[in-house]
Amino acid sequence: MKEHIETLCVQAGYTPKTGESRIPPIVQSTTFFYGDSQVMADLFDLKREGFFYSRLANPTVDALEKKVAALEGGVCGIGCASGMSAVLLTAMTLCEAGDNIVTASEIYGGTFNLFSTTLPKFGIEARFFDADTPAEEIEALIDEKTKFVFAETIANPAVIVLDFDKIAAVCKRHGVLFIVDNTLATPALCRPFEWGANIVIHSTSKYMDGHAAALGGMIVDGGNFTYKNNVRYPAFNTPDESYHGLVYADLPVAFGTKCRAQMMRDTGAVMSPQNAFLTLLGSDTLALRMERHSRNAEKVAAYLASHPKIEWVRSATLPTNKYYPLAQKYLPDGTGGMLSFGIRGDAKACARFMEHLRIATQETHVADVRSCVLHPASTTHRQLSDEQLRAAGIAPNLVRLSVGIENADDLIADLSQALDCV
Ligand SMILES: *Cc1c(COP(=O)(O)O)cnc(C)c1O
Repeated sequence: MKEHIETLCVQAGYTPKTGESRIPPIVQSTTFFYGDSQVMADLFDLKREGFFYSRLANPTVDALEKKVAALEGGVCGIGCASGMSAVLLTAMTLCEAGDNIVTASEIYGGTFNLFSTTLPKFGIEARFFDADTPAEEIEALIDEKTKFVFAETIANPAVIVLDFDKIAAVCKRHGVLFIVDNTLATPALCRPFEWGANIVIHSTSKYMDGHAAALGGMIVDGGNFTYKNNVRYPAFNTPDESYHGLVYADLPVAFGTKCRAQMMRDTGAVMSPQNAFLTLLGSDTLALRMERHSRNAEKVAAYLASHPKIEWVRSATLPTNKYYPLAQKYLPDGTGGMLSFGIRGDAKACARFMEHLRIATQETHVADVRSCVLHPASTTHRQLSDEQLRAAGIAPNLVRLSVGIENADDLIADLSQALDCV
């Protein structure tokens, strides 16, 4: 029987043996003891599972990897130092110079920079499409050197909901991997493998940890893609000479093994045991928190939409939102806490509003238990003119709000008194 997400959040990933600690302990050790040299040899040959060096695997990180894999319904998780390293490792596992990737353009800013600026320095080209691009136009971007198609379930910060069926059909037709960043939806609200994704990525720094305590990333292999004899993926079908001639396509977990054995080995962008422990604690309440984030955001969005000083509200909880039908289909239990809105007036009016907020604080972070706001035009994007802001898709009056798990009436009262000061 497959258990529900609420049960998996508190039970999956770690099962103590008699007398062991009830929750996964922090195993703060780089290395592990073995009395038998044959056992060590088998570990290095990947013939046996176990720990030998924390750059490749660690028991605390392993518990989180198993938990997130269970939550997503995948076959293997790989804990990374951050969400960005999870995206980078995924690309490095699949691509080499001369390859390309096809990606949504409405994605997290860090990922956008990685794809548009850094990967090209290594000979990997990124081809961008917009959320509303028709399937045929996306297909036209794919050629024999395309290694994956990438998108976010809920785009950060554009809060656009991914049309899974459209992208999954394109990927199926071309036998190309479909990779989804599920950070802002989390498996509590959407499980991309059920909608055709092959690899799922997380910044666990957001809702997965949920308390703004630990940076981290996770890659989950869906185990639902055939690499064997797929001419698009020669690196999976030829022996890896750096790993005694291993052919990854022959293994039960092809991508996950290549990612860990090759790329984690070579980059060391691993999650620390301490951060895995904090993320494990946080993730126990993931399903509960996502319920509350979603309900609160729904109430806040409805309140703002009816406020005379608010010009527009972007939230897929509103029936007038363009992506409402997609949210109903793929995120029936809620869309999390992210929304944005425009205040009638200039950047100064936005600044006044933000200064008067008492609960929501100004932060660059999003997606944790505490509500926070950001006015890009006066902070992260303050060097840009109004024209440049618009070109970057950021209205000068845009305020981004990450709705926390406080009482919704308190949040609304706070927004209300701050709007009175505008
Ligand atoms: C924050 C974020 C990332 C990057 O994660 P870090 O842990 O900050 O490196 C990637 N994708 C999305 C959708 C994010 O929100």
